[in-house]
Amino acid sequence: MKILELNQIEKKFGDNRVLNGINLTANQGDVVSIIGSSGSGKSTMLRCVNFLETPDSGTVDVCGEIINCRDENLKKPSKDLQSKITLIRRKLGMVFQSFNLWSHINILDNITEAPINVLGIDKGTAEEEAMMLLKKVGIEDKAKDYPAHLSGGQQQRAAIARALAISPEILLFDEPTSSLDPELVDEVLTVIRNLAEQGKTMLVVTHEMEFARKVSNNVIFLHDGLVEEEGHPDTVFTNPQSERCRNFLFNRRE
Ligand code: ADP
Ligand code: MG
Repeated sequence: MKILELNQIEKKFGDNRVLNGINLTANQGDVVSIIGSSGSGKSTMLRCVNFLETPDSGTVDVCGEIINCRDENLKKPSKDLQSKITLIRRKLGMVFQSFNLWSHINILDNITEAPINVLGIDKGTAEEEAMMLLKKVGIEDKAKDYPAHLSGGQQQRAAIARALAISPEILLFDEPTSSLDPELVDEVLTVIRNLAEQGKTMLVVTHEMEFARKVSNNVIFLHDGLVEEEGHPDTVFTNPQSERCRNFLFNRRE
């Protein structure tokens, strides 16, 4: 069942055309890895899904909530459009490279913030659910700690628990392990892999090719704001059709 569709998404920053007509479809349970060089538009594409960036044109369909970006005045959204964007955001959980936890409140409060303030869930229930999520990501003993007292890997796992706290239909990850020390990468990838195995729909921008290959069922290679290559990881990683994708995969040094 289709759960997400981007159709001909375009985005410019000034004269810089960053997305040049992106098409992407994800079905329920899909794990889509998004790869490509720095500056190819990966983050911007992901941010267009939840309207952290407003596309110039194209349509975004999240769980049947459809926004036609050319028709709508996204700079001055109508009430209807605002509520549609709110609906879309509630179906999405996002995890950033830099964790983005609130530093002045503890981990438990970080996780219950949206359930309490956005979804109107009572504090007791929200905390119970938050503890379950912390257990799921393996840091239930950190509930009362402040983010600064956690390692990078633990902070990112807390950020994943926070993204899950609104029970999103789709998780968006933007290079979730790129700012971690190498020895902390695996603990975060393991959490993401477990979510994939539980059937969560995910878009993952990543440089972890081994992970992308094992966990995703679809890989998208972006170049200059276009999907240059797309397919099953077994194909894309062994026999990419595009020269650029081939160069990206086989001539990179890491
Ligand atoms: P990637 O995530 O693939 O590295 P990005 O989507 O972050 O690429 O960036 C693509 C291009 O868009 C880059 O040239 C970047 O400088 C530009 N860009 C991204 N965000 C902004 C912004 N908020 N304002 C201006 N330019 C931006
Ligand atoms: Mg990026």
